[in-house]
Amino acid sequence: MKRRDPPRPNTRLRVRLTAAAESIVRSGHPWVFAGSIRELNREGTAGELAVIYDRNDRFLAIGLFDPESPLRIRVLHAGKPVQIDEEWWRLHLEATLARRTGLIDSQTTACRLINGESDGWPGLVLDRYGAVLVLKLYTMAWLLRMPMLVELLRAVAEPETLVLRLSRNVQAGFAQNGFADGQVVHGAAINSPVVFLETGLRFEADVIHGQKTGFFLDQRENRREVETLARAGDVLNAFSFTGGFSLYAARGGALSVASLDISAHALTGAERNFALNRDCEAVARCQHTTIQANAFEWLESNPERTFDLIVLDPPSLAKRESEREGAIRAYEKLASDALRHLRAPGVLVSASCSAHVSADEFFSAVERGMGKSRRKFTVIKTTRHAPDHAANFSEAEYLKCVFLRCD
Ligand code: SAH
Repeated sequence: MKRRDPPRPNTRLRVRLTAAAESIVRSGHPWVFAGSIRELNREGTAGELAVIYDRNDRFLAIGLFDPESPLRIRVLHAGKPVQIDEEWWRLHLEATLARRTGLIDSQTTACRLINGESDGWPGLVLDRYGAVLVLKLYTMAWLLRMPMLVELLRAVAEPETLVLRLSRNVQAGFAQNGFADGQVVHGAAINSPVVFLETGLRFEADVIHGQKTGFFLDQRENRREVETLARAGDVLNAFSFTGGFSLYAARGGALSVASLDISAHALTGAERNFALNRDCEAVARCQHTTIQANAFEWLESNPERTFDLIVLDPPSLAKRESEREGAIRAYEKLASDALRHLRAPGVLVSASCSAHVSADEFFSAVERGMGKSRRKFTVIKTTRHAPDHAANFSEAEYLKCVFLRCD
């Protein structure tokens, strides 16, 4: 049998693409699919650098190779030739972190520091919760670079603890190399949820086992908006998770907030987050209750329960393209069902994190749902990605939210 040396992080593959893929990469798109590769000088292994040359043999881009993924190359850099060495990674990290300047202050100690492809770190997310950094990897291509990544993050970002989170598709591959989802790869062990501040409110993040990296940091700006709309009203936060929107509504002066989620675990988290903020007078005054139920079913019934403000923030309803139309119908129905619980005047806040449903499709679906009643409504505002979650190519855009006032 031919003996193969383990790949070194700096070996390189030479790649040529189809003409169509060449122009897509030239325009700055970070993904090269397996079917777009016209020439590959040899078999590659996960994480090797792949240098893409154009039809005139000029350097086009360089990226991470993954032989197992249909997304065969994830571009790190396109344009002028570069040497991807330790110095390059360090400057790349410093530039990425510099884009977050101003987001962290004494009142907000958590944010996304690296947002994958859109920041030039394909398949990699880094979230900060106070002194804890959570690194989430979505591709085997990073396995080879784990020692470099840990050392770089330790040196540049100086976390007390660095936690590794792994998407389901890479857990087995990383396990073969001694890495587990939720493993502390640098610093002190974590035995309880991490408490951090967001806009002066205290929240827990379960960085070891929680969804995403432990909290939905992407909704921060929308939560801030809800705070300004909740005064003296009764609020329903549907798909509440651990009560992010609920706490902002409470601090905004809501008389009562009901957090509704299918997960009992999420709701006990919401209760703990309320307890963490008792020293805020408005939060202490607000009557917080939890409802453990399927929100779709709950909204279809319980007509006696009405509110002045309703937040709808379901999980992704279209994980693949084939689910797009069903998701659009579900968003429409959610809005029309929610409207029956909304007093007049009232505010509906409806968010979607389905990447396969475009913002326009989503906003139209919500408006169609609202239009089924004869009630008049106006759009207060629509929002997209927060600055620390900026998306710079269409496949990375998932979050959109609409705020409507309804008579
Ligand atoms: N708004 C939250 C994030 C919501 S994540 C925040 O700002 O933090 C989506 C939530 O929907 C999860 O907590 C999940 O448990 C819940 N969920 C999923 N399906 C549900 C259903 N059918 N009914 C109610 N909740 C559901």
